[in-house]
Amino acid sequence: MAVVCPECDNPIDVDVDEVEEGETVQCDECGVDLEIVSVEPLQLVALEESGYDDEDTSHLVEEEDE
Ligand SMILES: [Zn+2]
Repeated sequence: MAVVCPECDNPIDVDVDEVEEGETVQCDECGVDLEIVSVEPLQLVALEESGYDDEDTSHLVEEEDE
């Protein structure tokens, strides 16, 4: 199933059988992290946290909760 990135309008292919609510996927086009807030219907919201460019900085970001 494809959704459109809310940030850049790039179509993102998400396999709803392999994701759950609360998971995050990343937009290949703009790199934004998108949290799956609903699987049926498929709905994503962009995460705009400090871990913006989290290629290898995720271990530097303090995350108390998951
Ligand atoms: Zn995007």
